Amino acid sequence: MSNIDGHTFLIGLMAYPIRHSMSPTMHNAAFEKLNLNYAYLAFDIDSDRLEAGVNAIRTLDMRGINVSMPNKQRIIKYLDKLDISAELNQAVNTVVNDHGVLTGYTTDGVGFTTDLKKKGHPVAGKKMVLAGAGGAGTPIAIQSAMEGLSEVKIFNRSDKNLDNAKRIAKIINERTDCKASVEALENQAAFKAAIADADIYCDATGVGMKPLEDMSLINDPSWFHKDLVVFDTVYAPRETKLMQIAKSAGLTEVYNGLGMMIEQGAAAFKLWTGEDMPIDVVEKAISKKDGH
Ligand code: NAD
Repeated sequence: MSNIDGHTFLIGLMAYPIRHSMSPTMHNAAFEKLNLNYAYLAFDIDSDRLEAGVNAIRTLDMRGINVSMPNKQRIIKYLDKLDISAELNQAVNTVVNDHGVLTGYTTDGVGFTTDLKKKGHPVAGKKMVLAGAGGAGTPIAIQSAMEGLSEVKIFNRSDKNLDNAKRIAKIINERTDCKASVEALENQAAFKAAIADADIYCDATGVGMKPLEDMSLINDPSWFHKDLVVFDTVYAPRETKLMQIAKSAGLTEVYNGLGMMIEQGAAAFKLWTGEDMPIDVVEKAISKKDGH
């Protein structure tokens, strides 16, 4: 951070609570490595102060921000434009300020598809089962469909997000060539049959993360076939119960959400700076910070 001077551009993260976020560590390590004159700070901004926060982007001529909960939907009304990813998701996690014009993007979905692609599993032509249609599941489903996924079967428990799952499936069926369908997670026979027929199983429920770290939606290893790619959006812990069960069934392509988190940051980094984030540097900075 020794590079800060009178020309440094500020980038921020506006969410609440946010002090635990890895994003400042990631982005500042990357700015330093590439000798870019930016600084990234986290700001506790709840929905009551969001409008003032967005005005500050213009006032301070910030290059942009990330947003997280509770601001991902609420920020839309304060922005000038939405990119297609943010429009379809009706959520924003990245804002770019081009001379006072604020454009919203969603990079979580591309974080998922890019990470899987780098691990040798591009989503194009594949069948995916997705559990959970909330803040993470929505962009995962939509971006995967935009990148040529052939089929997505979304399972959500019977809460308010079951309606969101139906909304996503409608968008995917209307706007892409991917075939999307929705089932209640309580229909365990359908869940099991869908996984048996899938190439990718993605859990975007947060089950497996504190306080549910001893839980998994799937507890029977025989549900998994050996060619299945298993992806858990959780990254703390690095190995969830689901991942342990999948590995016990002999699966080798079993991943946590750390790569997705880094790649969503890399996509935002590219939007702000035009540069590719040095992923290896960022990985090292994260493991140094959190002791993994
Ligand atoms: P959310 O609350 O918006 O959505 C959670 C979804 O899972 C909802 O559809 C809900 O119905 C379902 N769900 C919740 N608890 C459940 C349970 N006990 N059983 C069955 N279904 C359940 O949360 P989110 O923002 O989508 O986050 C989900 C997980 O993804 C969290 O662990 C979060 O840390 C992780 N996440 C990871 C990344 C990444 O980059 N790797 C990005 C965003 C979120």
